Amino acid sequence: MGHGHPTRSLTGQPLPGPRTSSRPPSCKKHSVSTTSRGIVIAGGGLAAVRTAEQLRKSGYQGPVVVVSDEQHLPYDRPPLSKDVLHDSGKGVGDVIADVTLKPAEFYSDNDIALLRGAAAGSLDTAARTVTLADGMVLDYDELVIATGLVPKRIPSFPDLAGIRVLRSMDDALDLREHAASARRAVIIGAGFIGCEVAASLRKLGVDVVLVEPQPAPLAGVLGQRIGELVARLHRAEGVDVRTGVGVAEVFGTGGQERSDSGEEHGGQERSDSGEENRDHVAAVELTDGSVIDADLVVVGVGSRPATDWLVGSGVSLDNGVLCDEVGRTSEPHVWALGDVASWRDAGGHQVRVEHWSNVADQARVLVSAMLGQDAPSVVVVPYFWSDQYDVKIQCLGEPQAGDEVHVVEDDGRKFLAYYERDGVLTGVVGGGMPGKVMKARAKIAAGAPISDVLG
Ligand code: FAD
Repeated sequence: MGHGHPTRSLTGQPLPGPRTSSRPPSCKKHSVSTTSRGIVIAGGGLAAVRTAEQLRKSGYQGPVVVVSDEQHLPYDRPPLSKDVLHDSGKGVGDVIADVTLKPAEFYSDNDIALLRGAAAGSLDTAARTVTLADGMVLDYDELVIATGLVPKRIPSFPDLAGIRVLRSMDDALDLREHAASARRAVIIGAGFIGCEVAASLRKLGVDVVLVEPQPAPLAGVLGQRIGELVARLHRAEGVDVRTGVGVAEVFGTGGQERSDSGEEHGGQERSDSGEENRDHVAAVELTDGSVIDADLVVVGVGSRPATDWLVGSGVSLDNGVLCDEVGRTSEPHVWALGDVASWRDAGGHQVRVEHWSNVADQARVLVSAMLGQDAPSVVVVPYFWSDQYDVKIQCLGEPQAGDEVHVVEDDGRKFLAYYERDGVLTGVVGGGMPGKVMKARAKIAAGAPISDVLG
């Protein structure tokens, strides 16, 4: 990668003077302004909001424009597979309000222009412009890419009503509506989202079959041993967990089916409109020959970075937007963070993290580098959580599926495990053990020997 542009203040020019009242965003239709540039943030999720917020906190006073392809105010995604799904007593308005990251006044009070329903369509790094899907052209001094992920679909599935994915608020509201009348759901993929949806649907009284080709849920991330403890938790709640099998065919009420293994996850988009006019899903056949009647299928087979609009722009892409250790891409004045971005870590590896707490850390580092300020010197120990029933699964550090796992507590439901690589403590994973997980932070940050925690 050519990260040729060093840390510097914006475009080498002095920062704009004090902000007055609402400055118009640097945008207009079908033409490129050469005067009123600023910082454009493409994407309307957590990473976009944290970046805009951090820019103002850091004293940046020029125009900030956030471009979101969604109509909602930016919102928090973790509750989508949890409270939003299973808290059926709440009205849609309250649900949306609960997860909205910042009220509308935040944007006006901070002079942040939020363009909703506006998709970034292409990028011209030479002209320093982003062209939106509707033809509007935004010019920028600096561009921040924060477009997140797109859920993968299984392209060979027939076009049946009742087959859902979960990434956005609209997906969640739609799934919630379907779940209210569903009898049995098949969830394809026992990653975090599949497991959380399983837990939420069980809370709603829906029969759930969780299908995972690997030997255990979450095995690819946390290893088989902990994956089996997660499977045990779901079985105790009545989920029919089927591991080591995939989906062979999906049948609709009119007998429609698909015929290959579903290994290919091409990620193509499919409109879910016209649901009521389509044949409805009725059953799923697994690769072991078993057939499960189902009126709801949730596809949770992962996501891919939302980078289609960057193809041909010159920005280097490889499983996301390739960045250095502060978020610079291969192109000058273009930065990226959040789920879409693959940052270089201290060991020189490109790592793309799809977890919530990572985003605020990246926003602080990126904005400091962009504004030529000292980067915050914090030792970041990666962290994520997943809520499944009454058990909060927490992961601190960088455990890998191939690490040696030491389960030090297990009461049949809750558990605590340390991960070891080459004698070093790499991480801790707990189910329902919040205090004990967090206690290991300093030791993980210090690269302590595993003997420190095994006593
Ligand atoms: P996103 O939140 O995906 O935001 C990207 C935004 O950009 C979206 O609004 C998208 O529509 C928009 N966009 C995409 N393309 C364009 C374009 N071309 N132009 C304009 N806008 C565009 N993490 C945890 O640590 N713990 C959890 O329990 C947890 N639960 C989760 C549950 C669910 C259902 C999901 C989906 C994620 C969960 N996460 C969890 C992950 C966490 O939410 C993400 O890490 C976080 O949302 C990343 O923020 P982001 O802004 O990078 O991406």
